[in-house]
Amino acid sequence: MSFKSLGLIPELLKAVNVQGYTTPSPIQEKTIPIILEGRDVLASAQTGTGKTAGFTLPLLQTLDATRKDRHRPIRALILTPTRELAAQVHDNVRDYGKFLDIRSTVIFGGVNAKPQIRTIRGGIDVLVATPGRLLDLENQKALSLGRVEILVLDEADRMLDMGFLRDIKKIISLMPTRRQNLLFSATFSKDIKKLAEGILNKPVLVEAEPENTTAEKVNQKTYRVDKDNKIEVTVKLISEGNWKQVLIFTRTKHRANRLSEKLVKAGISSAAIHGNKSQGARTKALAGFKSQKIRVLVATDIAARGLDIPLLPHVINFELPNIPEDYVHRIGRTGRAGASGEAISLVDVDEIEYVEGIEKLLGEKLSSAIIEGFEPTGKPSQNKPKQQNNRKKNASGHGGQRRSQNSSGQASKQGSGSGNRNRNTNRGR
Ligand code: AMP
Repeated sequence: MSFKSLGLIPELLKAVNVQGYTTPSPIQEKTIPIILEGRDVLASAQTGTGKTAGFTLPLLQTLDATRKDRHRPIRALILTPTRELAAQVHDNVRDYGKFLDIRSTVIFGGVNAKPQIRTIRGGIDVLVATPGRLLDLENQKALSLGRVEILVLDEADRMLDMGFLRDIKKIISLMPTRRQNLLFSATFSKDIKKLAEGILNKPVLVEAEPENTTAEKVNQKTYRVDKDNKIEVTVKLISEGNWKQVLIFTRTKHRANRLSEKLVKAGISSAAIHGNKSQGARTKALAGFKSQKIRVLVATDIAARGLDIPLLPHVINFELPNIPEDYVHRIGRTGRAGASGEAISLVDVDEIEYVEGIEKLLGEKLSSAIIEGFEPTGKPSQNKPKQQNNRKKNASGHGGQRRSQNSSGQASKQGSGSGNRNRNTNRGR
């Protein structure tokens, strides 16, 4: 299968060629012809599958084929949950559209709005945006969505997790009802299905890969350690393995900062990336990591979501996520584009219940080992973190009970049912 056989015009084939893509990815094979037909699409696709080109290429072709207004009203809107993803998607729009007469821009919060407003006033065809800044500028009458022909919701599940449902509904109310809708989501929860029903018109369902499966080439390991030894173990793994590019996940921003500082003290260059960092700091950290000036990027789930960092050899879960699907997203950062990768999880006694949840989702057992010199005692941490993690906050009173039960070193399921795993626990990440 070639890009040409999918019906793309020469300008787009040339752009794809410049990117060095030779064959379409499975999601591209499926979505491109359907989107070119003008159909609505509901696609299950994670980052790394090539989904961005899957919607951007046909979107650009459709815009190019229809008559342009001299004033260039916004005709396509791509909504993303995070600033990083918005910036990345826009980079793709620019790359793929470089041989077409199509103007695009990206807007997100955390940076000065004035240049964004100026660019939009000059006329643009494609707008990539995060929901908050988009509504801000719309309120200020700096932009209008009254001429939107194509709407893309990228990583829709994450937008809902981040509490953007109301914003999305408001944004949709500002657009013409006749339009093409493309919804991309890594997972299909009940909420996503409900959102899709409300937005999409007879959508074609597209699945890039079975839901909730991990990349086959990712070698997954867990190490049982005490919480207090996790930093030392991390330093040991990175230094002794001589790892050059490592993405580490923590559950909270506070822990991301602390771990990054400790790594730097141990002589391992590192930067933390999370929601409290300014856009400038995030961009700088990401650029440093991509160019390998920084060996380690410590990130929270939300900050890491959608980052385009190809071919990462090592991912460490310094702490396991309390939402099993997040584990799948995290380890999806390694073993991409056919390369093999390693995902290591450091599991303390309080996290055994998370391993169980993850194994259930994956339908397989994760291998478990112990690192010599860091054998787990099963005792809870001596250094109580200043900021409690979300799980303990949400467990409302079960935390102490669970801790004392687990201090015997036994895995306990007490109070660990899915009811305690609040999906909306993104504050603090
Ligand atoms: P995405 O899932 O859209 O974030 O894309 C993941 C990565 O795959 C990006 O770095 C793209 O540049 C790259 N990519 C997209 N389509 C192709 C393709 N057909 N062949 C090779 N690489 C691709």
